[in-house]
Amino acid sequence: MSLRLAARVQRIKPSPSSAAADRAAALRREGRSIIGLVVGEPDLDMPGHIVEAIVEAARQGQTRYTQNAGTPELRAAISAKLQRENGLDYAADQILVTPGAKSAIFNALLATLGEGDEVLVPAPYWVSYPDMVLACDGTPVTVIGHESDGFKLRPEALAQAITPRTRWLILNSPSNPTGAVYSEAEWKDLLEVLQAHPQVWLMTDEIYEHICFAGHKPRHPLVLEPGLKERTLIVNGVSKTYAMTGLRLGYAAGPPALIQAMAALQSQSTSNACSLSQAGAVAALNGDQSFVVRNAELYRCRRDEVVGRINAIDGLRCELPDGAFYVYVNCAGLLGRQTPKGQILGNDDDVVMYLLEQVGVAVIAGHAYGLSPYFRLSTAASLETLIEGCVRMATAVSLLRTPA
Ligand code: PMP
Repeated sequence: MSLRLAARVQRIKPSPSSAAADRAAALRREGRSIIGLVVGEPDLDMPGHIVEAIVEAARQGQTRYTQNAGTPELRAAISAKLQRENGLDYAADQILVTPGAKSAIFNALLATLGEGDEVLVPAPYWVSYPDMVLACDGTPVTVIGHESDGFKLRPEALAQAITPRTRWLILNSPSNPTGAVYSEAEWKDLLEVLQAHPQVWLMTDEIYEHICFAGHKPRHPLVLEPGLKERTLIVNGVSKTYAMTGLRLGYAAGPPALIQAMAALQSQSTSNACSLSQAGAVAALNGDQSFVVRNAELYRCRRDEVVGRINAIDGLRCELPDGAFYVYVNCAGLLGRQTPKGQILGNDDDVVMYLLEQVGVAVIAGHAYGLSPYFRLSTAASLETLIEGCVRMATAVSLLRTPA
């Protein structure tokens, strides 16, 4: 074969969540009963009024290219949303509509990174950040947020990790995979560190913004520290909040020079986000928000049920996450135990494989997120499925033996 792949492709790997989902699907095809707690998307249906808006847009012939940066209606809706919900002023030329938030992050990195440029990625991290940095010729620098700190980045650790080559800090709150939510005080401490390093830009990935159970929603970091607006990129989208993952609709808001550079890359790659998805996003952002509030409550109930059941299993432990629809489970207590087949569980990969093979529960090993020994389970599944998953995990753990 004469195919020669670019170095940037050889540096990256496919998403581990897709790999885990594929393995679970293969076992299902073999007839096994599998409880899949892997997916990172809402299990709910997109609200009806958004469906109607999309159908209506199709009927009206909104099926052609839109402006590359997004329709004026959608950029106005995003601008209004940022004002209404976050207290921030962004005009249309400071907003780029993208095919998913993922695309916004990728374009921002592509627009700014060169070889040797470093991007600070707090771990546990969303699996795509390091690989996106690598694909854009940069160097991901992992900074661990320990469980004892709620898996959050400490300001001292941030200060220590910054070098003259640091271009970005990526912060994701609420977090995938831990559900951690930074409080206003924690934001302030981190922003103070950034103040001293003008070469470092801040990317805030706010995709789980509305799946937040923290007592009251913390104010936006740019409200706390408006001085950083000139070097901050906000990334958000409608995927998780409105159960629209498949419609691929995200956006970025930031300084015009960066937004223009990202728009130029978009115009020469994907072009505008899907016209119908944009019409749906207008309806989502401008419409009734009661769906959003109801969902957060639903995810909170599921979280409470799952965390209670996990903590009742000897050898597993987890904190109550403040947001998102994930639980990051500490499985250190299972390491060294022996499976019925005689295998000693040595790391979180072993634990995850054991849960899948023994009781058909699919979760993702913590090493994919940069911190072991843990596994991530998604609560974007029905309560019955989650309870069944927990019951099966308890059974699997009860079958383990501690070697003498
Ligand atoms: N950021 C985080 C932290 C995510 O978990 C995801 C989705 N898994 C995204 C961004 C991407 O969202 P979108 O579907 O809008 O591309």
